[in-house]
Amino acid sequence: MDCLFCKIVNGEIPSKKVYEDDLVYSFYDIEPQAPFHILIIPKKHITSALEIDDSNKDIVGHIFKVAAEIAKEHNIAEGGYRLVTNVGKDGGQTVGHMHFHMLGGRNLQWPPG
Ligand code: AMP
Ligand code: ZN
Repeated sequence: MDCLFCKIVNGEIPSKKVYEDDLVYSFYDIEPQAPFHILIIPKKHITSALEIDDSNKDIVGHIFKVAAEIAKEHNIAEGGYRLVTNVGKDGGQTVGHMHFHMLGGRNLQWPPG
Protein backbone atom coordinates (compact mmCIF):
# COMPACT_ATOMS: atom_id res chain seq x y z
CA MET A 1 0.00 0.00 0.00
CA ASP A 2 1.26 3.46 -0.87
CA CYS A 3 1.15 4.95 2.62
CA LEU A 4 3.77 7.36 3.97
CA PHE A 5 3.51 6.17 7.57
CA CYS A 6 3.51 2.46 6.61
CA LYS A 7 6.78 3.25 4.83
CA ILE A 8 8.10 4.93 7.98
CA VAL A 9 7.13 1.88 10.05
CA ASN A 10 8.95 -0.51 7.70
CA GLY A 11 11.99 1.77 7.38
CA GLU A 12 11.57 2.64 3.68
CA ILE A 13 11.41 6.31 4.71
CA PRO A 14 13.72 7.45 7.51
CA SER A 15 12.40 8.91 10.75
CA LYS A 16 13.75 9.91 14.13
CA LYS A 17 12.48 7.21 16.43
CA VAL A 18 11.20 7.98 19.93
CA TYR A 19 9.68 4.62 20.88
CA GLU A 20 8.77 1.28 19.34
CA ASP A 21 7.11 -1.95 20.41
CA ASP A 22 5.19 -4.75 18.65
CA LEU A 23 2.11 -2.60 18.17
CA VAL A 24 3.16 1.02 17.82
CA TYR A 25 5.89 3.26 16.43
CA SER A 26 6.64 6.81 17.56
CA PHE A 27 8.82 9.43 15.87
CA TYR A 28 9.46 13.16 15.80
CA ASP A 29 7.16 15.24 13.62
CA ILE A 30 9.06 16.72 10.68
CA GLU A 31 7.37 20.12 11.17
CA PRO A 32 7.19 20.56 14.93
CA GLN A 33 4.45 22.85 16.23
CA ALA A 34 5.73 22.85 19.80
CA PRO A 35 9.10 22.31 21.52
CA PHE A 36 8.07 18.66 21.90
CA HIS A 37 6.04 17.27 18.98
CA ILE A 38 5.97 13.58 18.17
CA LEU A 39 3.59 11.24 16.39
CA ILE A 40 2.48 7.89 17.79
CA ILE A 41 1.05 5.48 15.22
CA PRO A 42 -0.16 1.88 15.09
CA LYS A 43 2.19 -0.33 13.06
CA LYS A 44 -0.84 -1.88 11.41
CA HIS A 45 -2.46 0.42 8.86
CA ILE A 46 -5.64 2.08 10.14
CA THR A 47 -6.78 4.97 7.96
CA SER A 48 -8.14 7.17 10.75
CA ALA A 49 -9.93 7.06 14.09
CA LEU A 50 -13.12 6.69 12.06
CA GLU A 51 -12.02 3.09 11.41
CA ILE A 52 -11.89 2.20 15.10
CA ASP A 53 -14.24 -0.67 15.96
CA ASP A 54 -14.36 -3.63 18.34
CA SER A 55 -11.64 -5.43 16.39
CA ASN A 56 -8.96 -2.73 16.83
CA LYS A 57 -10.05 -0.44 19.67
CA ASP A 58 -7.41 -1.74 22.11
CA ILE A 59 -4.67 0.04 20.16
CA VAL A 60 -6.06 3.42 21.25
CA GLY A 61 -5.66 2.62 24.95
CA HIS A 62 -2.20 1.29 24.26
CA ILE A 63 -1.22 4.52 22.48
CA PHE A 64 -2.40 6.60 25.47
CA LYS A 65 -0.38 4.39 27.81
CA VAL A 66 2.73 4.72 25.65
CA ALA A 67 2.23 8.50 25.57
CA ALA A 68 2.16 8.63 29.37
CA GLU A 69 5.42 6.70 29.51
CA ILE A 70 7.04 8.93 26.90
CA ALA A 71 5.87 12.04 28.82
CA LYS A 72 7.63 10.84 31.95
CA GLU A 73 10.82 9.99 30.06
CA HIS A 74 10.94 13.29 28.19
CA ASN A 75 10.12 15.51 31.18
CA ILE A 76 6.82 16.86 29.92
CA ALA A 77 4.66 14.99 32.44
CA GLU A 78 4.70 17.85 34.91
CA GLY A 79 4.00 20.62 32.39
CA GLY A 80 1.41 18.56 30.59
CA TYR A 81 0.78 17.78 26.96
CA ARG A 82 -1.87 17.40 24.30
CA LEU A 83 -2.65 14.12 22.56
CA VAL A 84 -4.78 14.64 19.48
CA THR A 85 -5.79 12.79 16.33
CA ASN A 86 -7.12 14.62 13.30
CA VAL A 87 -9.82 12.85 11.29
CA GLY A 88 -10.64 13.55 7.68
CA LYS A 89 -10.77 16.79 5.74
CA ASP A 90 -12.45 19.02 8.30
CA GLY A 91 -10.33 17.50 11.07
CA GLY A 92 -7.19 18.59 9.23
CA GLN A 93 -5.88 15.09 8.54
CA THR A 94 -3.22 15.13 5.81
CA VAL A 95 -1.75 11.62 6.18
CA GLY A 96 -4.18 8.70 5.82
CA HIS A 97 -2.68 6.48 8.51
CA MET A 98 -4.08 7.12 11.98
CA HIS A 99 -1.64 9.06 14.12
CA PHE A 100 -1.75 10.78 17.48
CA HIS A 101 0.10 14.07 17.78
CA MET A 102 1.72 14.51 21.17
CA LEU A 103 2.58 18.15 21.81
CA GLY A 104 4.17 19.71 24.83
CA GLY A 105 6.83 22.03 26.13
CA ARG A 106 4.78 25.21 25.80
CA ASN A 107 1.39 26.53 26.85
CA LEU A 108 -0.93 25.33 24.08
CA GLN A 109 -3.91 27.42 23.08
CA TRP A 110 -7.52 26.26 23.15
CA PRO A 111 -9.53 25.94 21.03
CA PRO A 112 -7.23 24.99 18.15
CA GLY A 113 -7.78 26.91 14.91
P1 AMP B 1 -2.09 15.50 10.16
O1 AMP B 1 -2.18 16.85 9.51
O2 AMP B 1 -2.83 15.38 11.45
O3 AMP B 1 -2.45 14.40 9.19
O4 AMP B 1 -0.59 15.32 10.57
C1 AMP B 1 0.40 14.83 9.73
C2 AMP B 1 1.71 15.16 10.38
O5 AMP B 1 2.72 14.36 9.79
C3 AMP B 1 2.12 16.62 10.20
O6 AMP B 1 2.30 17.22 11.47
C4 AMP B 1 3.43 16.52 9.41
O7 AMP B 1 4.37 17.49 9.79
C5 AMP B 1 3.90 15.13 9.75
N1 AMP B 1 4.75 14.50 8.75
C6 AMP B 1 4.55 14.42 7.41
N2 AMP B 1 5.54 13.74 6.82
C7 AMP B 1 6.40 13.38 7.81
C8 AMP B 1 7.62 12.65 7.85
N3 AMP B 1 8.19 12.15 6.74
N4 AMP B 1 8.23 12.48 9.05
C9 AMP B 1 7.68 12.99 10.17
N5 AMP B 1 6.51 13.65 10.21
C10 AMP B 1 5.88 13.85 9.05
ZN1 ZN C 1 -0.34 3.11 6.54
